[in-house]
Amino acid sequence: MSPEQYIKAHIRTVSDWPEPGVQFRDITPLLSNPRVFRVLIDQFVHRYFDVRPSAIAGLDARGFIIGSVLAYELNVGFVPIRKKGKLPFTTVEESYELEYGSATVEIHTDAVKPGDRVVLIDDLIATGGTMMAGRKLLERLGAEVIEGAAIVDLPELHGSQRLRDSGLPLFTMVSFE
Ligand code: IMP
Repeated sequence: MSPEQYIKAHIRTVSDWPEPGVQFRDITPLLSNPRVFRVLIDQFVHRYFDVRPSAIAGLDARGFIIGSVLAYELNVGFVPIRKKGKLPFTTVEESYELEYGSATVEIHTDAVKPGDRVVLIDDLIATGGTMMAGRKLLERLGAEVIEGAAIVDLPELHGSQRLRDSGLPLFTMVSFE
């Protein structure tokens, strides 16, 4: 079994959560099994070891779990991009549309500096709105997002295509049609 198949086999699908009709892809079984967790993180470490990013930025909240371990392994800093109202220092914010309503994410203004080369990570890409907002924040602070990364892509929602079309290199490990 390939690492990708091994990882995919440990993602649980929960039907009708958080609302009827949704097939939620739950990565918690990947985290609770130490062997799979290691395979997962090693996949990201191997991809970014030679790239030598300046930092790893993680999207609230599951991007924090994988992003912080990846940053530790690469010996670079970790930057959280949080949902509005959680960061104490001065921030910049970016809002984006959800199916119903909108969401806002924030970053500390000193989290990255101009010229930094950052990998932006989350657990999953659906419509791509969250990752696009995170990328805009990093770019507003002068950093370059050298790649967006996620464990799971949901290609039917076209988010990964939209992100690639906007010029963002993207790496995902498994997809669910
Ligand atoms: P997007 O902004 O539409 O691409 O949605 C991606 C964000 O929503 C990520 O931060 C994910 O953690 C979360 N998300 C959406 N659907 C799922 C899912 O099925 N499983 C886990 N997270 C999801």
